[in-house]
Amino acid sequence: MPLSIAIIGSGPSAFYTVGALLKAGADCEIDVIERLPSPFGLIRGGVAPDHAKTKNVARAYERSALDEKVNYYGNIEVGRDVTFEDVANCYDAVVIAIGSALDRPLGVPGDGKNGVFGAAAFVGWYNGHPDFRDLDPDLNTEGVVVVGNGNVAIDCARVLAKTSAEMAATDLADHASEAIQASPLKDIYMCGRRGPVEAKFTNVELREMGELENCAPVVDGNHLPDSITEKMDARDLRVREKNLQSLRSFVGASGEGKDKRIHFAFYSNPVEVLGDEKVKGVRLEKTEVQDGRAVGTGEFTEVACGVVISAIGYRGEIFDGVPFDDSAGIAVNENGRVAPGVYAVGWIRRGPTGVIGTNKHDGDRAAAQILEDFTESKNPGRAAFEEILIKKGVRWITYEDWQKIDAAEQVAANPGAPRRKFTRVEDMLAVLD
Ligand SMILES: Cc1cc2nc3c(=O)[nH]c(=O)nc-3n(C[C@H](O)[C@H](O)[C@H](O)COP(=O)(O)OP(=O)(O)OC[C@H]3O[C@@H](n4cnc5c(N)ncnc54)[C@H](O)[C@@H]3O)c2cc1C
Repeated sequence: MPLSIAIIGSGPSAFYTVGALLKAGADCEIDVIERLPSPFGLIRGGVAPDHAKTKNVARAYERSALDEKVNYYGNIEVGRDVTFEDVANCYDAVVIAIGSALDRPLGVPGDGKNGVFGAAAFVGWYNGHPDFRDLDPDLNTEGVVVVGNGNVAIDCARVLAKTSAEMAATDLADHASEAIQASPLKDIYMCGRRGPVEAKFTNVELREMGELENCAPVVDGNHLPDSITEKMDARDLRVREKNLQSLRSFVGASGEGKDKRIHFAFYSNPVEVLGDEKVKGVRLEKTEVQDGRAVGTGEFTEVACGVVISAIGYRGEIFDGVPFDDSAGIAVNENGRVAPGVYAVGWIRRGPTGVIGTNKHDGDRAAAQILEDFTESKNPGRAAFEEILIKKGVRWITYEDWQKIDAAEQVAANPGAPRRKFTRVEDMLAVLD
């Protein structure tokens, strides 16, 4: 009997695990269980709509999904539609690949005001993730503060800054496109507690901020050191030196004829969100970096804004039956092993770090561990799982169903755009009815 393996989640870490199991030629049945009808996790719901090439990696995942050993069970949330125990009882091995879907809270007074959003929510909104379809941020404001100095912060700023022509060939959700283009937004402040050397931007993403059609970068030249003195490995040093080059090229950018500005507010720690019920601004404390840590100087400024997007990191949550490290926001695991026959991969294993490819190591490791731990199958697998789904009245979709939804999105796309996304689960399912 083939080994029965369930993978919960269908993002990069899930599909790298599938790929490694297939590559190993294992005699197995692999079932990928995903809470949304649509697969691929943050490739669809996180990666910025104007970075279409990055999403091409999903083609390789699709090849795995179409392998005869693999079944896709979309629209099934473990913890809502079935329990983890249901899954664990059916399969020999269970791989948890559910990512880190929650925002880390800003954690300053006023962060619950109307107009403060976490990046997971804001990105989900512009990417048409059904969970955030009705977020409805009020962009009728001239100022937005984005807290964070990483690529997610840059994604949020760039999507807000680009013109409709720059976004025309993307799959930006219609509701987001309309709200952004109708907005009188002029100033986007990207606040980082530390400086340009510590910022986590990658080179291409930062450079792009100097090439926008209707938005000019604003950088204070006094924030840029002549050289990097901090100790770091050669690769990091190269990335940061190139970032400094980009930032230097932004200093004094005229911005003439451009309606929007992106302010790189380094050494700025948000200490309070201002306003009554609704956000009116952010109070920032100037900082200095001492031994790599940001230390407040007691000097404060305020910036006016109607929206705050906090891009300071993600955390996971988990269903009952799996040990969870609440402070780290990850599944308790030792090198990916959670319990006998239970493994974790990707962001839920190690936290929200790394690029798409970083998850491949996790997938390779989990596949190797499963094949090391099991020489024979003892659990019934797929047939028993489907019996539970039928008994519980759960409607699931197959990969072939997803391909129909995918095709409908592509047919509905604007000229040049890859797709027009369905943003509600019921609309996706209606394609199949
Ligand atoms: C905004 C943003 C932009 C990014 N852009 C880039 C980029 O341009 N380039 C790059 O290299 N990396 C990028 N990354 C990082 C990359 O997306 C991650 O490294 C990667 O997606 C993590 O993979 P994962 O499988 O752990 O999680 P995810 O991709 O989050 O996948 C988890 C999957 O599990 C499903 N799931 C969750 N809970 C359940 C449940 N209970 N039952 C069933 N299914 C469940 C989710 O719906 C989801 O499909 C970005 C990340 C973010 C947040």
